[in-house]
Amino acid sequence: MTDRPYVIDQLISAKAIAARIEELARAIESEFAGTDKLVVVGLLRGSFIFIADLVRELGLPVEVDFIEASSYGDAMESSREVRILKDLRSGIGGRDVLLVEDIVDTGHTLAKVTEYLGTRGPRRLRTIALLDKPSRREVAFAADWIGFSIPDAFVVGYGIDFAQRDRNLPHIGTVRFL
Ligand code: 5GP
Repeated sequence: MTDRPYVIDQLISAKAIAARIEELARAIESEFAGTDKLVVVGLLRGSFIFIADLVRELGLPVEVDFIEASSYGDAMESSREVRILKDLRSGIGGRDVLLVEDIVDTGHTLAKVTEYLGTRGPRRLRTIALLDKPSRREVAFAADWIGFSIPDAFVVGYGIDFAQRDRNLPHIGTVRFL
């Protein structure tokens, strides 16, 4: 599929992302004010740039960990399964946790991963996603904070890939085949 030539049309500039991350960081700081340490968990791989920028804006003591989940299954939404491919290194029982995702699309991934992390007994578990595609939702899931709500389009850049390409773009864009 990537053999076909394509261009990327800018959807959200690097400057707009940086400005939004500052706002999100202030909201997270106020939610977790007084925490002894916040465990910031990045959902691999798409969140790696977002989490890097977000933690540098946070004026809170943080620990960083990662989890990797894989979605698979047939076309039937109800049978869609989410597997944990790489688990956390830290214990989160009784701790403050922020789960960081790149995109909420159908909602299955965040719904399942938050349910899974919830079984580990965190004191507070909140979720943040850089992008949200509300029109694609299949399960009722709302992240606590969203960077940008976007239409149903395939996006790349700022950590998000197209067949493992374009993660290093500093902005977010949509793929357009020529
Ligand atoms: P959900 O379980 O909410 O449907 O899946 C969310 C995941 O789907 C995201 O973490 C991301 O990996 C993938 N995804 C959803 N929309 C896009 C998109 O526009 N571009 C890319 N590269 N991945 C997407």
